Amino acid sequence: MTLVIDAGGTHLRAEIYREDKLLKKLNEKSSAVGLASWIETIIKEYSDVKTICISYAGQVKNGVIISAPNIKVDIHEIKEYFKEKYEIGLFIENDLNCAVLAEGTYLKEEDICAVYVGTGLGLGVVSSGNLITGFSGVATELGHIPYKEAPFECGCGKDNCIELFASGSALAKWKKHKNIDSKLTLQELKETPEFSEIYEEFELALLYAISTAITLFNPKVVVLGGGIIESNPKLESIIASKIKNYAMPVALDGVKIMTTKLKNAPTIGALMLRDSK
Ligand SMILES: [Zn+2]
Repeated sequence: MTLVIDAGGTHLRAEIYREDKLLKKLNEKSSAVGLASWIETIIKEYSDVKTICISYAGQVKNGVIISAPNIKVDIHEIKEYFKEKYEIGLFIENDLNCAVLAEGTYLKEEDICAVYVGTGLGLGVVSSGNLITGFSGVATELGHIPYKEAPFECGCGKDNCIELFASGSALAKWKKHKNIDSKLTLQELKETPEFSEIYEEFELALLYAISTAITLFNPKVVVLGGGIIESNPKLESIIASKIKNYAMPVALDGVKIMTTKLKNAPTIGALMLRDSK
């Protein structure tokens, strides 16, 4: 059996497979439990699990969790832990790195950026066929590039990250800061004159972020995904039409901007970690 986990900033989601057949889906709040202890409760019940593949919304290097702004880390050396204690093979990679591996394979593209807007704002980059990870596994952390000061802190400890303007958590923080009904959607913010500034700030920060990725990495394709993109399908055409005002023209020349066609690219990419070994 293989246990595939999508460890996001809001939810931990697990799928258990025998061969390629899905047996069970599980769900838990990321704030409720440490990732390793949650996995242990699952493998107690499903003792045939031999492999664990994790798409992780945080920084990871060689099977070690470096940090995670929104997830409880109970065991950092998670690969070693499950190997020693349970003799289970574990593969873990940053969620956007997993996503871009899946997107690149699906689209047969060797120069591709995946920009996901969910709880956070994330980027994964495959350049000339190689995943860009950096010295300690924290390269391409698009959400945490300095942008401008916000009246609250980011999960990383700074208060000027672009993620504080263009992400699901940013929208929640701005609504709370301005005492606005937390249920208002991005579209409703846009259509309500007294709140539309939050939408305008969101759109502008997202354009800055995506154009920064295009200018730095010169991709052929930019794939958009994540919960905010999925629930706001018009964002793709808004970005595609306005990006020329932000990205460097020669880097933007011929770039295709599209929304993901995959149902869950991060978990598809996490499974690819197992199959590529
Ligand atoms: Zn940050």
